[in-house]
Amino acid sequence: MPFPQLFSPLDLGHVTLPNRILMGSMHTGLEDKASDYDKLAAYFAERARGGVGLMVTGGIAPSIRGWLKPFGGRLSMPWHKPRHRKVTHAVHAEGGRICLQILHAGRYGYHPLSVAPSKIKSPITPFTPRALSSSGVRTTIGDFVRCAQLAREAGYDGVEVMGSEGYLINQFIAARTNRRTDAWGGDATGRMRLAIEIVQRTREAVGPDFILIYRLSMLDLVEGGQDWGEIVTLAKAIEAAGASIINTGIGWHEARIPTIVTSVPRAAFAWVTGKLKGEVAIPLIATNRINMPEVAEHILASGDADMVSMARPLLADPEWANKARTGHSERINTCIACNQACLDHVFKNQRASCLVNPRACHETELRIEPTKTPRRIAVVGAGPAGMACASTLAERGHDVTLYEKAEEIGGQFNYAKQIPGKEEFHETLRYFRHRLGDTGVNVHLGQAADVTGLSAGHYDDVVVATGITPRQVAFPGSDDPRVLNYLDVLARHCQIGKKVAIIGAGGIGFDVAEFLVEAPPSPTTNIPRWASQWGVDMQLSQRSGLQTAQPESPARAIWLLQRSEGRPGARLNKTTGWVHRATLKAKHAIMLGNVHYQRFDDQGLHVSINDVAQILPVDNVVICAGQEPNRRLADDLLAAGIKTHVIGGAAVAAELDAKRAIAQGTALACRL
Ligand code: FAD
Ligand code: NAP
Ligand code: SF4
Repeated sequence: MPFPQLFSPLDLGHVTLPNRILMGSMHTGLEDKASDYDKLAAYFAERARGGVGLMVTGGIAPSIRGWLKPFGGRLSMPWHKPRHRKVTHAVHAEGGRICLQILHAGRYGYHPLSVAPSKIKSPITPFTPRALSSSGVRTTIGDFVRCAQLAREAGYDGVEVMGSEGYLINQFIAARTNRRTDAWGGDATGRMRLAIEIVQRTREAVGPDFILIYRLSMLDLVEGGQDWGEIVTLAKAIEAAGASIINTGIGWHEARIPTIVTSVPRAAFAWVTGKLKGEVAIPLIATNRINMPEVAEHILASGDADMVSMARPLLADPEWANKARTGHSERINTCIACNQACLDHVFKNQRASCLVNPRACHETELRIEPTKTPRRIAVVGAGPAGMACASTLAERGHDVTLYEKAEEIGGQFNYAKQIPGKEEFHETLRYFRHRLGDTGVNVHLGQAADVTGLSAGHYDDVVVATGITPRQVAFPGSDDPRVLNYLDVLARHCQIGKKVAIIGAGGIGFDVAEFLVEAPPSPTTNIPRWASQWGVDMQLSQRSGLQTAQPESPARAIWLLQRSEGRPGARLNKTTGWVHRATLKAKHAIMLGNVHYQRFDDQGLHVSINDVAQILPVDNVVICAGQEPNRRLADDLLAAGIKTHVIGGAAVAAELDAKRAIAQGTALACRL
């Protein structure tokens, strides 16, 4: 057994879980419409088949006032049960277990009916909540209890009461959001009362043989949160009230310290759960940035927790648990914590999926089925698009040859993996190395494919995934050897001076800026160093776990520039862009819009900023001005009458990212 702790059973009294893996709650968007529950059932069934010990649904509101958004997922009426039964039946048919998460959004509700302990608007929602009256509080407790009873009737194995992340219960607990003077506010005891009564009354209503998880905010990471003593008191009271398990919550959604993005070190917060060990007797679950079995095993073996929670890693690979159990962790499709297809979608009201696994939440629609007409297919380019396409084609039974002109697979992921905080991109390359081998793709490295060779190969189809070329920008002096592009920095590792201007503030401009300001090794590899840079108090001596951030000195002075007006980085992804902007701000990078580039010479880069001429005294300029499709091969093949399909950057470079490249490669392979 490669991971003995992870795969040891967990006895909860009335039920024994087969392992210590919890699939944590993750909103997918499928919870919100009754017509999507067949898809939701297929999504959970696939993960149950993958061997996870226990799963938790996305947040389901116990009432309309508790909605996350208008018409969001809710379980408050008997006629809501049949749709939930589809989920519980599908999971039980695969031998799995599932709890329903009861989530009352409180002031995070994105609708005008939201309620909260006090009338205080959150910084991340436009609606000001109404303060609940005392009888409104009683009604809310009843809503939680009824929701749990209905969950039991719908076949769930238990519920998780969401008490963290800044949602309603957490809003009651924290003085930051609870200014009440009645029995539900005032001192810490009054503020905790709602949480304790909900757990107590729920346990009374559902009986002893039903799992009751309480998600407890152990580190608020916002001003006016709890101190450690109060957290321990609450945990003990929650245990006494009848919870079976305590899950960890880290950081409110409005916190300005990242808690799950890829630059957060793996298992960065397991020590918080570890500190609560011994204070209660019921099992504790560690969460956040746990994505590989080695990490999970280490947390359990070091005694920091009894179980680990992973949500996104099980989106990325439904077979995660089975692969770990059978000693094949090198074949896990690892979650790279990019948020691009999961949380960013949810924030845009789109269905969640996964950048590295486009089948996530599309199980019934994107099927990889054996082909009835096997063909000989060449795929050109082993970037994300080509790797996904070639391996899926081969899995379906086609005879696939993959040509890559570089000496290694991966395309631009080989540059991305060098950015501090993007170390996880190595894992995607490792996964595809195995997947290409396992599916039997003939991989030819160091071989640029051309029309002559491809016609001589007599392939039935050619898939062109040749990616992009960096956009050139011409201005007087741009031919100076000190003017470079991002490949000179990340592929050719050219010498770079101490003062650098970056032309172009898109995703790559930001990444290159972070590469140049951060002295190696990356803080992502060291939890105490990372915590000190962001102001996380690892001693837990300060309220909310906050202390003054101590960013390290920048390795270089950076000017990050764009022509368009406004704040650079405004178009970066919703859930991660702010982290990139804050990282560079802490390193004193100067980020400017409305910049026009005039010339480069020995004085530096001559620009006009808001129509005022300036000279930026830089040693180097690095151009990160977007990308153009590398279509030449595709055009030549089409001209030669060869059946050609074009995917990824080779098809359209504008707004290309790995999410689109992998999804497009997989979808084409499922069709051919
Ligand atoms: P590419 O990755 O460009 O791959 C094309 C491949 O084709 C290359 O390996 C090339 O050598 C090969 N090739 C070209 N011509 C031939 C030929 N004639 N014969 C054989 N082989 C050939 N995206 C995200 O979604 N999230 C991120 O966080 C992110 N970070 C990034 C950070 C950096 C620094 C960079 C540079 C990119 C980042 N990207 C990110 C973008 C992402 O990597 C690309 O969108 C993605 O790689 C595009 O995939 P692709 O397969 O279309 O092309
Ligand atoms: P990009 O996001 O399109 O940004 C290009 C930048 O160059 C913009 O700031 C643009 O702003 C500027 N620019 C464009 N044409 C220019 C010109 N002719 N002269 C000067 N400046 C010019 O492209 P990218 O940064 O190269 O990234 C490529 C792709 O990789 C993107 O689609 C991105 O999604 C993806 N990526 C994603 C991530 C991520 O974390 N999700 C990270 C890296 C890359 P102005 O026009 O205002 O000057
Ligand atoms: Fe993980 Fe990114 Fe997939 Fe979300 S989209 S599950 S963060 S790899």
